[in-house]
Amino acid sequence: MNIILLGPPGAGKGTQAHRLVAEQGMIQLSTGDLLRAARSSGSEMGARVAAVMDRGDLVTDEIVIGLIAEQLDKGAAGGFIFDGFPRTLAQADALGELLASKGEVLDAVVEMRVDDDALVERITGRFTCGDCGEGYHDTFKKPAKEGVCDNCGATGSFKRRADDNEESLRTRLLNYYRDTSPLIGYYYAKGLLRRIDGLGEIDEVAARIKTVLNL
Ligand code: ADP
Ligand code: ADP
Ligand code: ZN
Repeated sequence: MNIILLGPPGAGKGTQAHRLVAEQGMIQLSTGDLLRAARSSGSEMGARVAAVMDRGDLVTDEIVIGLIAEQLDKGAAGGFIFDGFPRTLAQADALGELLASKGEVLDAVVEMRVDDDALVERITGRFTCGDCGEGYHDTFKKPAKEGVCDNCGATGSFKRRADDNEESLRTRLLNYYRDTSPLIGYYYAKGLLRRIDGLGEIDEVAARIKTVLNL
């Protein structure tokens, strides 16, 4: 099964994608993670996108479509979870073509609805483990032992994203409503849209996603 998790920054896409990977053996494809990896590897492309990302603006369609094409070539038996991609109509069209060229289809698009005040709170409290990528939150998902990752036991590896500040978040929200929210209608028209309430406990949201995906 191939699905898209669609929603504004902070909606909980990464958090829920991790759960689906652990429980369903799917592969998460996050263009945000792929771009951050390109930056930390010191590649020329990584350097080119750094300022755009820190500002909260969108990287060009060409770059992110290229990243996704590369990953799709590797294949995934359990299916793909697209997280943070597509973000524009051009990316959505490209994804459809890439999947079709591999004889694959998109099975569902889960729209995670979270109001803007909650998004700001989620983003400003977000941090992750630098070793394993597990996501945390200052209020909503604290590690059991302060400074220690629940998932991999690493200590002193927590980090915060440079773009998780109020100014960049405002830009990201604006870009979401302008460039990405038209995808809701696009996928509705294709009969693929499944809307869920993204507010509530992480477990509750996970259960709603499973319900709409018939898992
Ligand atoms: P969030 O989880 O907060 O929505 P991401 O980690 O998905 O943020 O993305 C971080 C940044 O990477 C974005 O602000 C944007 O600059 C860039 N980016 C990620 N995915 C895409 C995409 N599909 N198209 C264009 N830019 C992207
Ligand atoms: P996205 O990938 O959509 O940008 P994340 O999954 O990174 O969002 O979640 C943003 C922040 O909100 C993280 O700190 C995460 O721990 C927290 N979070 C995720 N889901 C929930 C939830 N249902 N309730 C409260 N906080 C949440
Ligand atoms: Zn960890």
